[in-house]
Order: sequence, then structure tokens, then C-alpha cells
Amino acid sequence: MPSDLYAQALTRLDDAAEHSKAHPETVQRLRQPKQLLEVSIPLRMDDGSLRIFTGYRSRHDDARGPAKGGIRFHQSVTKNEVKSLAFWMTFKCAVAGLPFGGGKGGVIVNPKELSLAEIERLSRAYVRAVGRNIGPDTDVPAPDVYTNAQIMAWMMDEFSVMVGKRTPAVITGKPVALGGSLGRDDATGRGAYYQLKELESIRDLEPAKTTIAIQGFGNAGQHFASLAHADGYKVVAVSDSRGGVHDPEGLDIPTILEIKQSKGRVDGGKETEITNEMLLELDVDVLVPAALEGVITEDNAKDIKAKIVIELANGPTTPAADAILEKARTMVVPDILANSGGVTVSYFEWTQNREGWYWKLETVHERLAEIMKREFRAVYDKHESRSISMRTAAYALALDRLADAHEATGTKSDFAR
Ligand code: GLU
Repeated sequence: MPSDLYAQALTRLDDAAEHSKAHPETVQRLRQPKQLLEVSIPLRMDDGSLRIFTGYRSRHDDARGPAKGGIRFHQSVTKNEVKSLAFWMTFKCAVAGLPFGGGKGGVIVNPKELSLAEIERLSRAYVRAVGRNIGPDTDVPAPDVYTNAQIMAWMMDEFSVMVGKRTPAVITGKPVALGGSLGRDDATGRGAYYQLKELESIRDLEPAKTTIAIQGFGNAGQHFASLAHADGYKVVAVSDSRGGVHDPEGLDIPTILEIKQSKGRVDGGKETEITNEMLLELDVDVLVPAALEGVITEDNAKDIKAKIVIELANGPTTPAADAILEKARTMVVPDILANSGGVTVSYFEWTQNREGWYWKLETVHERLAEIMKREFRAVYDKHESRSISMRTAAYALALDRLADAHEATGTKSDFAR
């Protein structure tokens, strides 16, 4: 199995192609990004020194609509990672049935080392560097790892200055006061929670008896934990990049959230501390990797005891680990489906910006629930009827939809004489 992230993405495409109606030409087109941009960003630091940062933006495919996907600020960003994440966005938007293609951006930086003013200058400089390649009808960024609504506000403002008109639809995940949508903040966690509710009825889960461990306590992990906890599920472990806490009796998530907000880390007091690695191997019913990619590998997959894995992070499971989990009959709700709630509400935000007509929170929740439940069922039905993994089913469904768009302009079958 390839260790390279993009090669891994392509194995998923090949697996899906076997279960999809897509013409080989469509598969061929999806093997590489439509555009992959690398920019250097010189930045004046607070102490007067100059630092050069490297940024990327990839537009993988835009057959179904403008490219869509976040921008991450992280020290381990690479060109290959951005390229892979953009590929995943194409499939994520297609599996959620959104009229978008896939994009992703990133800057190699540890934002925790920068002052707020430096982060603002970096955000604006990034937009100036990639500005001619993004826009409401071409490529629409959003938050991702270590970027947030504040950063989206600076980016939207900079883009608006560049084009000489206020352009809220260029970016999503903005503060509500600047054209953001109600319900965007918890959308990723909420979308996964709605899918858990579908699983609850399929598998007859009893919330009070169902234990959940969550690796990653950022935006997605926190909201998923809160919603599951409020619904009576037993969230027994959570962790962030520094480590985690475990209490087999169930954690009090509101308290853990308060501590995280005040101390900046997960710390439960009386609960036993655990490492991120230990958390993955806990004897729980549902495991939720909600941090970074590549945490479930061929080395630890056999030690995963959870029978259900809900991938809130992008790419947490390698293809080699997938094969091991499939043999163990573990149900993996794949990232492109499980975490598609975020981009779905981004779509609502983009729609509202273009229409200038803003929705109530209940409308956002209703429409998000409808899409999440519908697409979860569609993937689940394909998984059942074809006896393929949820992941392959999700990719195959997405590929069918991508094929409809790509092939509407013809394939060799139409043109050959
Ligand atoms: N970064 C998020 C993701 O990976 C959201 C993307 C978006 O809203 O465009 O799905």
C-alpha cells in the first residue's frame, strides 16, 4: 500500500471506479488536479524581521461547480497534502450532492508562534497571492485546521479590496455579522451527529449504553462531543494534541469544554490521563478520529476495538488500515461523508450571500439534517446492496455524480466513428 497521501487517494478512486458507471475518461481526468498553485508570502514580523512563508491552493475539479474547500495554517502542510485534500473535497461535495467541485489551500506555518497582527497580515497576504485564482464562481475557500471565522473575515475583506467591491460569497465560514451563516460553527460536528442518529436506528443503538471516544477536540470534535453528550451518549474519552482524558463512566463534556477554554487544553481533573495513541485503542462502541490524517494505520488498526468508526477528520485512516478494519467488520463512516456537514452549511452560506436573504437557525438545521440523513442512507444502501465498504460506496456514489457532470459534454463513445 502506498504511504504517499495522493497515491492513497488514487487507490480510493480506483476502488470506486469498479462500482461506478463512470467512463474511464472521467476517472482519467480526476487523477490529477486541474490547478495546483504554489506561492511565496513575504511577511514583515512584529520584531521588524522578514519571514517568507510558503502557501498553496489546489483546484482539483470543478465540473459540478466552483471548487470548494478550506485553507489550513499548519507547520506540516505540504503541497502533496493540499493536493490530496482538494481531491477529497471533490468527492465530499459530490457525495453530499452540493453544486461544487473540490479545492484546498494551506500555508506552512505554526500559527501558535504568531501574534494576532501577524496572523492578520499573513491571511491578507495569502489572499493577495492566490486572489486571481479564487472567487464566488471559481474557487471558494473556508476554514480548516487552525483557521477560523476571524481569518475568513480578513480574507474576505482583502479580496473585496482587490476586486473593488464587497464580495462575501468568495469565502465561507465568516462571522455572522459579515455574512456568515447561522449554524456554520457547529456544522461539521452536527452533520456527523445526524449521521450517528441514522446509525442509531439502523443498529438499534441505545445512547446511554453506547460509549464514544473522540480523538481531537477542535471545532468538529468539541461540537460532536457536546451534541452526543446532550443526547445521552456516553462520551468516555477525548483528547487534543497534548493528550487526553478517560473516564469509563462517561465524561462531563460541558466541564471539559470549560477547562479547554480556560487552560487551552483537555484536562478533566479526576479522570485518568491517556495518550492519543491509547485513546484509539480503547474498548468503546464508537471511535471518532477528529484530528489529523493518517492516525489509523496498518500498525494499530488490528488494536482498534470500536465496531463503528466515524471519521470527523479528513483522511484519518490509511488504505492499508481500511483493509484490516473491513476484515474485522468494523463499520467506517468515511470522512467524505461523515464530515460533510461543514461544507454543506458552507454551501448554505454561499447561497445566502448570493441571494442576500438570510435563514433562521432552524432552517439551517432542518436542511442540514435532510441532506445528511439522505446521503448517509444513499451510501448505506449502496454498501449493503453491493457488499462493499461504506468508503467504497461513498466514493462510488460521488463518482457516479461526477461522471454525470463530466460526461454531459461527451465521451469517446459519443465522438468515435
Ligand atoms: N475544511 C472543511 C472541510 O474539509 C470545510 C470546507 C468548506 O466548508 O468549504 O470539509
